[in-house]
Amino acid sequence: MRQKIDPAQHEDVPEIAGRLRPLIERVEELHPPRVQNGIGCVQVCRGEGKTREKREPEQRERHPPAQRGLVCRTGWDSGTGPSSHSLTADACPASAVIAITAPDRPATARSVARVTACALWGLETALVTVEVDVANGLPALVVVGLPDAAVQEARERVRAAVRNSGFEFPLRRVTVNLAPAERRKEGTGFELAIALGILRASGQLRVDVTGLCLGELALDGALRPVRGTMPRVRFAAARGLGQVLVANANAGEAAACGVESFGFASLREVVDHLEGRARVAPTSVPPRAAPPHHSVDLAHIAGQETPKRALEIAAAGGHNLLFVGPPGTGKTMLARALESILPPLDDAEALAASAVHSVAGLIDPRHPVLTARPFRAPHHTASHLSLVGGGSPPRPGEVSLAHCGALFLDEVAEFSRSVLDTLREPLEQHAVTISRAGGAATYPARFVLVAAMNPCPCGFWGDAERECTCLPEQIERYRGKLSGPLLDRIDLRVHVPRVPFERLRDDGRERSADVRERVLAARERMRVRLATTGRRVNAELTVIEVKRFCSVDAATERLLAEAVGARRLSARGYHRVLRVARTAADLAGSDGVRGEDVALALLLRSDP
Ligand SMILES: [Zn+2]
Repeated sequence: MRQKIDPAQHEDVPEIAGRLRPLIERVEELHPPRVQNGIGCVQVCRGEGKTREKREPEQRERHPPAQRGLVCRTGWDSGTGPSSHSLTADACPASAVIAITAPDRPATARSVARVTACALWGLETALVTVEVDVANGLPALVVVGLPDAAVQEARERVRAAVRNSGFEFPLRRVTVNLAPAERRKEGTGFELAIALGILRASGQLRVDVTGLCLGELALDGALRPVRGTMPRVRFAAARGLGQVLVANANAGEAAACGVESFGFASLREVVDHLEGRARVAPTSVPPRAAPPHHSVDLAHIAGQETPKRALEIAAAGGHNLLFVGPPGTGKTMLARALESILPPLDDAEALAASAVHSVAGLIDPRHPVLTARPFRAPHHTASHLSLVGGGSPPRPGEVSLAHCGALFLDEVAEFSRSVLDTLREPLEQHAVTISRAGGAATYPARFVLVAAMNPCPCGFWGDAERECTCLPEQIERYRGKLSGPLLDRIDLRVHVPRVPFERLRDDGRERSADVRERVLAARERMRVRLATTGRRVNAELTVIEVKRFCSVDAATERLLAEAVGARRLSARGYHRVLRVARTAADLAGSDGVRGEDVALALLLRSDP
């Protein structure tokens, strides 16, 4: 492009700029996204043959070679010699040259861009401000602020995702800081925030990002869901963040936490939404799933009145339970029937249990909030890691997935003894803490333990029909698997005998729904009584609360004293008997703990 200029005005540089305006506007038309809103600035200089070469070092300094291509620069060619620029190749006494090179910093760019993300350790969360600075220097992407290996790896994905979404990755020094920098950041949830920060800092995204951004990026710019969305969004919502930008698969989960949740398929969609080109509607709160149909009903089980009674007490008072009996007597079926008589989850429990499932990546996107209490049944070959959790990044184990529900250990004596011993902490603390180099992760683990075992390795010890073939020391070793301290934490230990053939066909058995009604009534009594203590069920009573709520009359006290002497009941065992008696009284609708309740509690605490 060329425009003739009056030679008389050569000296007056601003005037030349004015005359060049139509030419500059023409260039701006040709590169609308680049030379807009002052992104490309116009530098007006007189070009006298060699001035171009003289200016070169200064130009390099102001615009490093990496970003050349955007600034509108005018130069003069007086026609004294051939110019390097093609537009001036044919000598002309006064022609304007406009070259486009990269701007130093686009006017829409922020000096430092900030995007909010959220870090997760176990179920503990903290808001993280992702700060991005784009500065002159050798092209590099540096992440600081104690990122772990997975966050470091994210750099390559962010780089490719930005490029493949139709944006330019700034060929300059990009510094990403995850603040506060004092704690190690784990996992892949930061990639969306880092990418948006880079786009904002380089002026390719023209608005600030105010919501919480969570998501992993694919190389092609697609947005992938991340684990642990629910606890992070809940935390952010509690801190006043009302908007969340996540992958489509996480949108329902986030919406369930009561925030405005936007789901996207790609980074490009997020930018189009933020800039208002293609707005995405907020995701509606997904409906709760229908209550599950339980496969086992108490009415399916013949006889077994005492084990059924123990099951009812366990469901009502949250007591741990052990079934001991020969194979084939229905221990597993009884244990599975517990699911059908547990009270429904209240809202707080449902969110707490769902949050653990979210961290484990086990959420159903269509129904992110659990409706039924979890019932976990790990196999006896389960490792320490899968039972109590751990690994890198840490994941919750079965005890935490059973939070607010039940953990069923079938063939409990077949578990490795060291694995069983790890259960003592969650049974006592109702939580699991996994200590690691980068800090500790804590998962909740409040569950009812139901265990089942044979009385001896062959399974027929004490059976009326078949003879046991085990040696006494084999039996001792077998039962020793459940070490004293673990066994002491199991309030209810019940023998499950073989049901005589003639009783297998009897009718008129109670249905689970009827038992559940009694369980619900007992829970309501507990709720009223324990309202001021912060406990939910009798199994959680402290020793002082046992004294306060489980007082018995003198005759019952004598019965207990005899039992303590005859059965060498430990102090802990004594208090556990009283807690079980309290639940039995609640199920019977009695305000005080009666003698028969204590007698039942002692009966349901036989030694295996
Ligand atoms: Zn045996």
